[in-house]
Formats: sequence, structure tokens, C-alpha cells
Amino acid sequence: MLLTGAAAAFAGVARGANAPFALSDAQWRQKLSPAAYRVLRQAGTEQPFTSPLLNEHRRGRFACAGCDLPLFSTNTKFDSGTGWPSFWQPLAHAVATHTDYEIGLPRTEVHCLRCAGHLGHVFDDGPAPTGKRYCMNGVALVFHAGAA
Ligand SMILES: [Zn+2]
Repeated sequence: MLLTGAAAAFAGVARGANAPFALSDAQWRQKLSPAAYRVLRQAGTEQPFTSPLLNEHRRGRFACAGCDLPLFSTNTKFDSGTGWPSFWQPLAHAVATHTDYEIGLPRTEVHCLRCAGHLGHVFDDGPAPTGKRYCMNGVALVFHAGAA
């Protein structure tokens, strides 16, 4: 696969090399499950309706499975029917976005602000009040019950 410019700089083992929380590729492989590595470090997508977090209804926060930065509150979680955990807003200072063309059309990729791990995508068909749908891979998140 030929990647150019920013996409090449962002993809593969270079992902997050300059992020505030950075590990070597070998360290990431050791730290993460194979499924989490494929999503967070290789921008993979988990199969829909496979994440146990879809049925997580306690109050709390969803943090990055790579670096444990809190990313989303249960206050903004909703059932999108897509089979992926969905939120209408991230926490402040939690995620950043980047346009990718992996399916041939522009999509807005969402990644962790601290470790640059790939989390999912954001779409404009979400509910009020933001109209955004943050479509997240559950394997990229860990749930911490408690204050939302
Ligand atoms: Zn992270």
C-alpha cells in the first residue's frame, strides 16, 4: 500500500512516535492484547456487536486502552444501533481527529490525544445536542466505574 504525506507519517509504526505517551512498537505489542494492538496501533476495526462495553450501563468513564487517559463519560453514551460503542461528545482534552481515506472517501479518524492510538471515527449523524456520533472500537477502551 502506498501512502503519501501526512497519512504515511501517521500510519503504522510511526503512529504516535512523537505523542506525549509513546512506546516502541515492541512495547505496544507486549502491553496490548492482539485485538487492541490491531485497532489502536494499526487502525483496525473490530467486528460490530462484539464489544462487552455495548452493554455497560453503569456510571463511569471510558479510558484509552493504550494509556488510560479518560476519553468519554457515560453521560454522553448512546445506543447508535451500529454495534460499536457510541458517544455524542468526548471529554475535554481527550481526543484529536485526522482525515483518512481508507475506504476511498474521507472519514474523520479519532485518536487518543496522549498516545495517538486509533479509537474509531466521528460522523455527523449523531443525536442532540452535538449531532456527532463518535463510533468507537470497544477494544480500544477500558471502563472505569465511578464518577462520570
Ligand atoms: Zn491513549
